[in-house]
Amino acid sequence: MNIVDKVKNAGIVGAGGAGFPTYVKLQSKPDTYICNAAECEPLLYTDYYVIKNNISDIIKGLKITMETTGAKQGFFAIKKKRKALFPLIEEEIKKQKAENIKLFPLGDYYPAGDEQSLVYDVTGKIVPQKGIPIDVGVVVNNALTLAQITKAVENNEPVYRRFVSVVGEVENPFVALVNIGTPFKALIEYAKPKEGTVLIEGGVMMGNVKTPEDVVTKTTGALVFLKENNPAVREKTASFESVTRFSKAACCQCTECTVLCPRYNLGHKIEPHMIMRTLNYGLDSTSHIAQAAFLCCQCGVCSMFACPFGLSPKRVYAYFRQKLKDYNIPPIEHKADPFNEAKKVPTKRLMARLGILHLDVTPEFIGEFQFNGDYVIPLKQHIGAPSIPVVKEGERVSKGQAISKCEEKSLCVPVHSPTDGIIKKVNNNFVIIGS
Ligand code: SF4
Ligand code: SF4
Repeated sequence: MNIVDKVKNAGIVGAGGAGFPTYVKLQSKPDTYICNAAECEPLLYTDYYVIKNNISDIIKGLKITMETTGAKQGFFAIKKKRKALFPLIEEEIKKQKAENIKLFPLGDYYPAGDEQSLVYDVTGKIVPQKGIPIDVGVVVNNALTLAQITKAVENNEPVYRRFVSVVGEVENPFVALVNIGTPFKALIEYAKPKEGTVLIEGGVMMGNVKTPEDVVTKTTGALVFLKENNPAVREKTASFESVTRFSKAACCQCTECTVLCPRYNLGHKIEPHMIMRTLNYGLDSTSHIAQAAFLCCQCGVCSMFACPFGLSPKRVYAYFRQKLKDYNIPPIEHKADPFNEAKKVPTKRLMARLGILHLDVTPEFIGEFQFNGDYVIPLKQHIGAPSIPVVKEGERVSKGQAISKCEEKSLCVPVHSPTDGIIKKVNNNFVIIGS
């Protein structure tokens, strides 16, 4: 079996949160491959422990992807604040004689891990608006994804578990290797969140509010608990009606949101203050101003850092994006703002603004998370078409066994059992496996 098929059959998708099937990226022809270990969301230590525990597999994975795609140079992009890991990374690069892979230290700013910001920082190339890194000859994979590639290629190991940080307002912050399908409530019991907190999956800035009944998927990098009145929680939970009401009452068109927008600073035609004007004065919602919703990466810098009133161009763009039909944004010649470097948002200042500096502690790594209950495995944990179940209720399955398949030629990857067990329930959306 070739490497692309092995990666597809192992069910590997972007572990950083995007969930794009990795086998597709391996069919491209970049000149540069980047390992994204920026981990720019505040409070997270997922990549930190992935690197500490899997550095050999990460570098091997980067070599495999570079050989498969023909990329001539590789970069291991990681923040300078993680410099304690640099000797480990550099020694492994040396050990594996990977002369064409270089460590690339990033500043401690947000959103350093955004693919387009990362590509610009590392290569100086600007991904065209509405484009993807391969448009400028670059492919980016998360550090955990690269480790998963090695495990799939060398040991035929599929993705049935992943590293997860459980942090924030909890008594026991921790990072663990958690089986896919583990209910959040099992992790919550161990972490012991404080009273009056809200659960966010993903990260403070880009994550979404979830319930204890939700489950760990291939893209669950973190669970973060924040107080109910934290500005990040308010930003995520406010009704769209109140978002628009406050915007109309308070937006003074100061342009701070545009000045600090990372996509605007890469030269893309997105101006968050203009979308607020569109909202306030009912300008043509099919104009290029509203259509810039397709250029917004939902990083939240505008709403959670830039705006003096906590207004949310991010939410407004999300609204327009849902409402409008996609249209063809023409390519333009991009030029980054000459003050781009000075306008990057320092992570420490972002945390101070959100009142979460006191939560910035190094969580303990507790190894494999022990869970003996029923696993709920969603059949779609990736961008693309859902996978189709291939198991029946009452059937015995073993750890790592594929429990779904993909339609031929669809953008899809299968899912696998995280345990030896019995299928308790199957439908088109999920499979439940118990012992
Ligand atoms: S969320 Fe705000 S700051 Fe981020 S890209 Fe969108 S408009 Fe720009
Ligand atoms: S920063 Fe806030 S007040 Fe200023 S233009 Fe943007 S949304 Fe309006």
